[in-house]
Amino acid sequence: MKVFSQKVLIAAAIDKLKAKQLTVGLVPTMGALHHGHLALVKKALNENDTVVVSIFVNPTQFDNNDDLVKYPRTLEGDVALLKTVSENKILVYAPTVDDIYEGHTISNKFDFDGLEFEMEGKFRTGHFDGVGTVVKRFFEIVKPHRAYFGEKDFQQLAIIKKLVEKHHIPVKIIGCPIHREANGLAMSSRNTRLKPEYKKAAPFIYKTLKTAKEKFGTKSANKITEWVEKEFAKHDLLKLEYFIIADTKTLKPVKRKSNQKAYRAFIAVYADDIRLIDNIALN
Ligand code: AMP
Repeated sequence: MKVFSQKVLIAAAIDKLKAKQLTVGLVPTMGALHHGHLALVKKALNENDTVVVSIFVNPTQFDNNDDLVKYPRTLEGDVALLKTVSENKILVYAPTVDDIYEGHTISNKFDFDGLEFEMEGKFRTGHFDGVGTVVKRFFEIVKPHRAYFGEKDFQQLAIIKKLVEKHHIPVKIIGCPIHREANGLAMSSRNTRLKPEYKKAAPFIYKTLKTAKEKFGTKSANKITEWVEKEFAKHDLLKLEYFIIADTKTLKPVKRKSNQKAYRAFIAVYADDIRLIDNIALN
C-alpha cells in the first residue's frame, strides 16, 4: 500500500489516475482507525476506482492542547487495517503538520451561515474554522470526485456540505451512518483511551439517546432535555456537557415541534477527561 507524506507526491499520483479517467474518493480521518472508519472506506471503494484515506491529526481544530497531545497516533496499525479492505485501491496520505500548514499553523475564518455557532462550535472555540481549513486543503490537494463523512459528526457533515456549496468546490459529499459497538457505544478513536470503568459506563450515552427518541413522540423537547440532564446528574462517572434537540437543517435548538421538519438529538459527555459525542435521528 502506498503511503504518502507529501502533498506534491500524492497530487502527482492522483493526476496520473485521473488522466486514465479513474474516479477518486476521499475519506478524511485523524487515524487510530476503527470499523466506523472502515465502513466509510468500503463505501468509497464501492463507488470509486481509487480511495485516498487521509490520516492527519489536525492541530487547528483542537481547542484543548491536552486532547491534541493525547490523541492516539497509530499509523502502522492503520495501514495494516486498511490493507484488510484493499491492497491496491487505497492510497494513504499521512502528511506532517508542515506539509499542510507550511509553517503557519493557523485556521482560515469561515462563514457557515450560522451552523458553526451551535453545539460543537459553542463548546469548542474555533473548531470548525480548523475543520474547514484542513478539509478545504485536502480537497485542493486530492481533488476527489466524492468525499465521505460520518453522521457520528453530524454537525461537521453539515458544515462540509456548506463549505462545498459556498466555495463552489466540485466534489460530492456523502454522509454515512454511525457505526456502534455491540453495546451501542458509537465507535470513536477516543474510546481506546477510556479506562475500563468508563468504557463500561459509556453505553449509557446511547441508551439515553434511544429513550429520548421514544419520548419524542409525546413529550416536548424541553421536558426531554430536563429528563436527560437529571439522568446524567445522577450518574457517578459521566458528565453531561450538552444535550440538544435540534432541527437537522439549521442545527438550531427546536422550540416548537413541526411535523414538516426533521429533528435530531445531539449529546456531548465527558467520561473522565475524554469527550464523547453522539446523536440520533428522532423522526
Ligand atoms: P475522525 O478520525 O474521528 O476525524 O473521523 C473521520 C471520519 O470518520 C469522520 O467523517 C467521522 O464522522 C467518521 N466516523 C468516525 N467515527 C465514526 C463512526 N462510529 N461511525 C461512522 N463514521 C464515523
